[in-house]
Amino acid sequence: MVSKESGIGLRYPVPWDQVERETLEHFQTIVRMDTTSPPGNETLVAEYLKQVLEREGITGRLLALEPNRANLVARIRGNGSKRPILVMGHTDVVGVQREKWSVDPFAAVRKGGYIWGRGTGDDKDNVTAGLMLLLLLKRQGVKLDRDVIFLAEGGEEGYSPTGVRYVIPNHWEEIDAEFALAEGGGGIIKDGKVIYISVATSEKVRLEVQLIARGTAGHGSIPRPDNAVVSLANAISRIAAWAQPMRLDETTRTYFQRLAGISPPEAASRYRAILNSSERAEAESHFARHELRHNSMIRTSLSPNVLKAGFRANVIPSDAEALIDIRALPDEDLPKFVERLREVIADPLIEIKTTSGRPAAPASSLNTEMFAALETAQKLVHPESITIPILLTGATDMSPLRAKGMQAYGIGPVVDDEEKGGAHADDERILEKSLHDFVRFVWHAVLEVAAAK
Ligand SMILES: [Zn+2]
Repeated sequence: MVSKESGIGLRYPVPWDQVERETLEHFQTIVRMDTTSPPGNETLVAEYLKQVLEREGITGRLLALEPNRANLVARIRGNGSKRPILVMGHTDVVGVQREKWSVDPFAAVRKGGYIWGRGTGDDKDNVTAGLMLLLLLKRQGVKLDRDVIFLAEGGEEGYSPTGVRYVIPNHWEEIDAEFALAEGGGGIIKDGKVIYISVATSEKVRLEVQLIARGTAGHGSIPRPDNAVVSLANAISRIAAWAQPMRLDETTRTYFQRLAGISPPEAASRYRAILNSSERAEAESHFARHELRHNSMIRTSLSPNVLKAGFRANVIPSDAEALIDIRALPDEDLPKFVERLREVIADPLIEIKTTSGRPAAPASSLNTEMFAALETAQKLVHPESITIPILLTGATDMSPLRAKGMQAYGIGPVVDDEEKGGAHADDERILEKSLHDFVRFVWHAVLEVAAAK
């Protein structure tokens, strides 16, 4: 393949054919390592990466809270005139229901232009891109203004104590950086054309709320006014009817502006309307019915997902419980929000318990060298496309980094179907071409922001 390099990339020409063969080999090897979490066993991948790096003179270090759940960190040094960049991927994967897969989920089968397997899209693609980045920086002898740090972290799924939750408080100096690149973005390909490349600059904050209704137990033949099931059902219907106001920030405003520019006329006018407070009502109600992800991107959301109550049809239970999945906009004042929730439920006999996960963190700026470098990389690798910043409705390990002051950006390969074969899905898979394009994308973005000009 003849590569179209330009800018800083011209100074460091890469033999991409050979790099693609290597990328594929490392990628398949680590997909074949079963790092289902729990139990994780991410040390398998960490040790492998360490060996590959050390073969080429790059020192890797294992950072482990538990011996079988190690993280790997490695660094290529720059001249220190700028602060480091951290490139991160997670080595653990979620479980599989093997009977629902059409291939062995840990065989990294190549079929139909894809590589199939658990972790191919989440997140062994980012791990492999980080590995290839370090190998290329070293081989090409790139002169760097800033250190480039690679962190292959375990324990991302379920926010285990062994991953960044361990590394940040215990080994901060080994990952401290101005910018971070991690999972969370990507792109969409339709009819062979990449529509856009998304960069995640912000994400919602997860809060789990447990409601416990209490009443008096009794015989089902004598109904009671304090039936816990009825109290809980009332509370849930009030929550369901509680409208959350929409709010835009720099990320979502830019998202809808840029999306409007590449959408068919009807959708485009909806995205423009949502930006304008006097015209947005209709677009908002359209989102609520037909564009559910967009609906969630612009407001704090509540979804009641678990109910537990009763054990026999003729016994009035003494308590009933519900779990509500709350995903708050990054600027939501959570204690105040829980107070308002209490008012909405308006039942002093219902107890409200909250459990939080990753910390809330401010969005990363669109006005940084890193975001500009990602846009440059997109123009080089996907010139037909545009870059769109997104707010993730799900949670990633970028938020604890952002909470420490890092500007973190979620990136990823392009997919041809958002519904099938994605992260956590059966038959998870990645387009081979996307994997290779992604390695080139990361290479150009990091050269742009880190190479001495
Ligand atoms: Zn992931």
